[in-house]
Amino acid sequence: MVSRIIPVETFDLVIFGGTGDLARRKILPGLFKRFCDGQMPVGSRIIAAARSELDLSGFQDFVVEAVEDALGTPDADQISGFVDTLDYVTIDALGEEGWADLAAKLPAFDKVRAFYFSVGPSLFEALAERLHKHGLVDTETRIVVEKPFGRDQESAKALNATLRRHFDESQIYRIDHYLGKETVQNLMAVRFGNMLFEPLWNSQYIDHIQISVAEDVGVGGRGAYYDKSGAMRDMVQNHLMQLLCLTAMEPPSFFEPDAVRDEKLKVIRALTPVEPHHIVRGQYTDSSDEVTYREDVGDPRSRTESYIALKCHVSNWRWAGTPFYLRTGKRLKARDSEINVVFKQTPHSIFGPEAGEHHNELRIQLQPDEGINLRVTIKEPGPGGMRLMDVPLDMSFAEALGEDADTPDAYERLIMDVIRGNQTLFMRDDEVEAAWAWTDPIIQGWEARHDVPKPYESFSNGPTDADLLIERDGRNWREIGR
Ligand code: NAD
Repeated sequence: MVSRIIPVETFDLVIFGGTGDLARRKILPGLFKRFCDGQMPVGSRIIAAARSELDLSGFQDFVVEAVEDALGTPDADQISGFVDTLDYVTIDALGEEGWADLAAKLPAFDKVRAFYFSVGPSLFEALAERLHKHGLVDTETRIVVEKPFGRDQESAKALNATLRRHFDESQIYRIDHYLGKETVQNLMAVRFGNMLFEPLWNSQYIDHIQISVAEDVGVGGRGAYYDKSGAMRDMVQNHLMQLLCLTAMEPPSFFEPDAVRDEKLKVIRALTPVEPHHIVRGQYTDSSDEVTYREDVGDPRSRTESYIALKCHVSNWRWAGTPFYLRTGKRLKARDSEINVVFKQTPHSIFGPEAGEHHNELRIQLQPDEGINLRVTIKEPGPGGMRLMDVPLDMSFAEALGEDADTPDAYERLIMDVIRGNQTLFMRDDEVEAAWAWTDPIIQGWEARHDVPKPYESFSNGPTDADLLIERDGRNWREIGR
């Protein structure tokens, strides 16, 4: 199969926080892969700007190491070509150091120009102000910002207002890397590119939908940050909400940024408030040799959740009566993320009670491997009569696409979309604020009630109350790590 790499224009990408963890693990290795695929036209540059006192060769060594850690030993010619595109400026976002140097490196607006704010949100305003003061932006310049986009609706509005004082919404790219995953986009291709699914994609045929994002790691070194946030703010308000939107939204009239984002926004606005008894919060506890959540965050009385499961409804004609079950947690049995669309049983079984109960299920797997499979009911092979069984009908990208199935990491794809000027897979200000408007009352309710999360054993499926949440409705969670 012929590779279909879509070319981009020559660009200057400035990464504020270019020596940070995110740049080292994701952004720089991702850019290297795009370079290897010929998606960095000659003349394109990556300029890192950070507080670290490094010279260019020190930064180049840092990048080579980052690439080796993420991707293994690179091809010598490719890595040497890539490091030639790099530049480095020591800069202080809050002071004047380095700004004149950065301006000297960007003398003319003759390429696509983007600034990646890979720093904490407290620096956004200072960066935006200085970029303008030093004449580094024009109306075509793009900025890329990372979560967290606030910690509630009020702070998200304030952050958006800050950015909008300096940039038009069309220049702001809010990254949610879940949207950059190949399979998430395939969810849209499967839904809106086939006749097969969309007629069945509603409460008449779908019993319920599960969205699970399970991690096997704890909060690790991010304990101090995480403890102020918790699973609701860190995962549900953004990543799970985005997955829910893409699963539940109406077909946009065109695959174009505002058309897609308008439809996602309608889903968020249609979410009904969640009843307190439809939410289970958890916190990981003991296992033989691992520390507990409270030990991890250094607070023996922490009431922050490292796990959440909830049931919610999208109140519109398509989804009335079909519950959505969301769950996410740390230190669970396996790293395993999936959207499960569970169809209803046939209205009448012609095969009699011995055939058992069967239903179709569409599984969109996001982690650890990406893929889609549809479980269909067939006759159990052999002479044993008309006994039925469910088997997966695999849409394995690796088999279907051969070598080209090496799917780009979410960050690679999203950065290239920034360079192309395509905002479809980025969150708009009103989406972020609407998502907070739904989560805020839930969090405020816990705070008012001094709610304490349920303990769950590390490397388990989560708290037993979460099982009861779905079993009460006569359903079961998909097993984690199956
Ligand atoms: P980090 O602490 O590892 O790195 C911060 C970077 O910012 C460093 O390069 C540092 O030199 C630079 N910096 C700090 N203060 C500065 C200043 N005053 N002037 C100029 N540069 C300054 O942080 P990180 O983990 O890379 O995260 C960056 C942002 O991305 C944060 O907002 C974080 O919440 C977000 N994020 C990170 C991850 C991740 O996996 N690390 C994932 C999602 C979102």
